[in-house]
Amino acid sequence: MSDRYEYSSEEEVRDTTAQRPHVVILGAGATLASFPEGDRNGAKLPLMNNLIEVVGLSPILRRYGISAPPGANFEDIYSELYQLGADAKVLREIEAQIEGYFSALQLPDHATIYDKLVLSLREKDLIATFNWDPFLYQACYRNRQVARLPHVVYLHGSVAIGYCMEHRKKGSRLGQCSVCHEPLTRSRLLYPIADKNYTSDPFISAEWSGLKAYLRDAFVLTFFGYGAPTSDAAAIALMKGAWGDVEQRELEQTEIVDIKEEDELTKSWEPFIHTHHYDIARSFDESWLGKHPRRTIEAACQQILEAKFIDENPAPQGLALLDLQKWYQELAAFEDQPEAG
Ligand SMILES: [Zn+2]
Repeated sequence: MSDRYEYSSEEEVRDTTAQRPHVVILGAGATLASFPEGDRNGAKLPLMNNLIEVVGLSPILRRYGISAPPGANFEDIYSELYQLGADAKVLREIEAQIEGYFSALQLPDHATIYDKLVLSLREKDLIATFNWDPFLYQACYRNRQVARLPHVVYLHGSVAIGYCMEHRKKGSRLGQCSVCHEPLTRSRLLYPIADKNYTSDPFISAEWSGLKAYLRDAFVLTFFGYGAPTSDAAAIALMKGAWGDVEQRELEQTEIVDIKEEDELTKSWEPFIHTHHYDIARSFDESWLGKHPRRTIEAACQQILEAKFIDENPAPQGLALLDLQKWYQELAAFEDQPEAG
């Protein structure tokens, strides 16, 4: 038994023993925090309370005589139209406008939090996103040669993703299945209605099954910029069911990366939080991902199970994309070596 109480960053870099996954749930707040200046061309990233203006839905709503006061929440408007059995034409026009806007978004050329996010997890880990935008797919694509990346599931669909259900393949919406060579079917976006059905669409249903399987084994669960909106009640119930009873999870860690006040956050997240084992981080850099890239579970086990004082191993700040990729590539190189005695 070790009589040492510390776990240094040198030890962390060489330690790749963890098998259990880290699951990261992304919400719209993560995108906004990652692209404060907008996308590559300066296009703004909407939240639900400004989506109508940002995406340019007002002219469509006006044409159908629907009034949406400034600052109206898109979830409320859409949900209400849906419940009233609104003319299907207006819903389809709204959806087409949204898909067009999100489809055109592109990652900026410089290094972004999304690059760090995908590079800070390993193949055993999972990112589950509620976001429709193409950034996560684009970040995985441009970093695919740097290191082995985590698995990704799209809980509400994505404008970037297509799939072949028969061969269990997914990829670029414009691509083809690597087995049957048929064009991939575009994933549908799941729109905000109060009683969302996560099982009626085969792709979305498969994505949720993936999340549930990972959640059952996860040692750390991070919510990054996910506001747990009331229209996501079904999603929250599903996640809670898969994470299980907090009393049975007393050694695992829940982490919330958000800028909201602590009181407000703990209230929303109570079902996931065991008495002591939760952390609140104000930014990606303060999170387990930012402090212990590619070794989050190793570091968490040392701190929580071994009660050691752990060092940190953050990527240097302000690196250009190529330098950032080189830093992660060097870190990932330790994952292929037999463990040093
Ligand atoms: Zn196929």
